[in-house]
Amino acid sequence: MNKNDNLSNPIQHQVYHALPDDVYSDVPPVRVEQPSLLALNHDLLSQYGLASSWFESAEGINFLAGNHDYAEQHPIAMGYAGHQFGHYSPQLGDGRAHMLGQFKDANGQLIDVQLKGSGRTPYSRGGDGRATRGAVIREYLISEAMAGLGIPTTRTLAMISTGDQVMRDYQMVPGAIQVRTATSHIRVGSFQYAYAKLGESGVKALADFLIEHHFSDIAESDNKYLALFEAICVRQANLIAQWMLVGFIHGVMNTDNMSLVGETIDFGPCAFMDEFKTNKVFSSIDRESRYAWDQQANIGYWNLQRLAETFLPLLDSDSDKAVEKVQAPLTTYINTFQHAFEQGLKRKLGVTVSTPDAEDLVNHALPMVAAEGMDFTQFFDALTRVAQGSPNSDVLALFSNQEKGEQWLNSWQEIREHSTETVSAMRTANPTLVARNHQVEQAIQDATERDDFALFHRLNEALKTPYTVSEENQDLQAAPAPNERVLRTFCGT
Ligand code: AMP
Ligand code: MG
Repeated sequence: MNKNDNLSNPIQHQVYHALPDDVYSDVPPVRVEQPSLLALNHDLLSQYGLASSWFESAEGINFLAGNHDYAEQHPIAMGYAGHQFGHYSPQLGDGRAHMLGQFKDANGQLIDVQLKGSGRTPYSRGGDGRATRGAVIREYLISEAMAGLGIPTTRTLAMISTGDQVMRDYQMVPGAIQVRTATSHIRVGSFQYAYAKLGESGVKALADFLIEHHFSDIAESDNKYLALFEAICVRQANLIAQWMLVGFIHGVMNTDNMSLVGETIDFGPCAFMDEFKTNKVFSSIDRESRYAWDQQANIGYWNLQRLAETFLPLLDSDSDKAVEKVQAPLTTYINTFQHAFEQGLKRKLGVTVSTPDAEDLVNHALPMVAAEGMDFTQFFDALTRVAQGSPNSDVLALFSNQEKGEQWLNSWQEIREHSTETVSAMRTANPTLVARNHQVEQAIQDATERDDFALFHRLNEALKTPYTVSEENQDLQAAPAPNERVLRTFCGT
C-alpha cells in the first residue's frame, strides 16, 4: 500500500471478485452534481494507518462521490436475500450501495470501502439509490458511538454532500453519501442468496471466502464448515449481549442486516434507550415488536437457524445427520449469549460474589430499573459514582419510590462490600454517554435545515470517549425533556 504516499488512492483491491459472479454485479456508482466533503473521520484514518490528504483532495472527494472512472477498482453491488420481519424476500441486495474495494490497514487487514447512497444498481427495485443527509448523519453518529463503546461495528469514514436533492415524504431534502468501512459485508442474507442461486457450490464459495479472510484460525479444523458456523454463532452471541448491556435496540434485525463477522451493520431505526423498558421498540415499522430490546437474542438465534439451513449441504451429505450436527453450535450460541450477558450485567453492577443474595440482586436488577422507569444509562452511571464514593442520593434521585430505593441500595452496598471488582472496571462497563435519540435528531435537524454541523461534530467528539466523566459534556448526559422525547424512529432512508 502507498501509506507514505499521501496523494494516492489506497483502495487497490476488490476481493469479492473471487466469488461466483452470480452473487454480485459489476456496476459503478452514479455521478453526482457537486460533491463536497461534509465530514472526514481523521481518527479512523489514523487508526487504519492512512493519511488524510488524498481523501481531502479533489480526486479523493470525486472518487468517494461517484465521479470517477473506477477503471482500476471495478466497483460492485452485492446481491443478497433476506427474511424481513420474518418474511422471505429472495431479491434484495445493494440497492443504493457500491463496494469500491479494499485497502490494507496498519495490521494488514483488508478493509471494505463501501458507498451508501451512491445511485441505482441492478438491485434497486423501485428505489432511487440515494440517501438523505439526515440518514447518513444518523448512521455516522451511531456507528461511531458504537465503536467508542468498544462494540464491533461497521464504521463511517466520511460523509459527502452530493449537491443533489432527493425526494422523501413529498419533500426535497439534501442528498448525501456515507463512506462506510467494515471488515466484511457478507450477511446471513448473502448465504441465503447464494444458496437460492447456486445451491451448495454458492454456499461453499462464500464459506471458503469467509474462512480465508476472517476466520483463518479454523482453516485446519477437521470439519471446517461446522467450525465456521460455530465461530459465527459465538461472535453473534457476544455482539448481541454487548448491545443489550448498553441498552441498544438495533431495530431491524432482518437476516440481510446481520453481518457474519459479528459487526453491527445497517443502522436504521435503531436507538439507545433512555427510559428502560424490557420490551421497548422504537422502529416505526416494527409493528409486532419483533425486534424489541428483550427479543434480540432470540432473533439472533432465529437468524442463525436460517443461516444453518444454507450450511446443511456443507456439513453432511445425509441431511438428517447435517441437521443433527448443527445443533451443537446453536446451543453454543445460547450458552455464549447467556454467559456474556450475565457476566456483563454483574460487571455493570460491580458484583463478583455468587451468594444467593447476590444472584437474586443481579437477576432482579433490570426488572427493578424497568419498574422504576429509570433512565438506563443514568442508573448505571450513578451506581458507578456511588461505588466511587459519591453520596447515595445520586442513585436515590432516580427512584420514584425512595423507600424502595434505600432498601435496594442497602442490599447492593452489602454485596458490593464483598465484591472484588474495582470501581474503574465498573466504569468500563457503564458509559456516561450514549448517542441519545433526541440529540441525534437535533443534530440532523440543525444540519439539514440550517447547514449547522456544530452539534454533529460535538456529539461525534464526545462519543469517542463515552466512559470518561467530563464536566464539559455533562449536559449530554441528560435524558430528553418530555417534549424532546423521540417515541418512534423512522428508516428515513
Ligand atoms: P435497509 O433498510 O437499508 O437495510 O434496506 C433494505 C433493502 O432496500 C436493501 O436491499 C436496500 O439496498 C434497499 N434500499 C433501501 N433504500 C433504498 C433506496 N433509496 N434505493 C434503492 N434501494 C434501497
Ligand atoms: Mg440493510
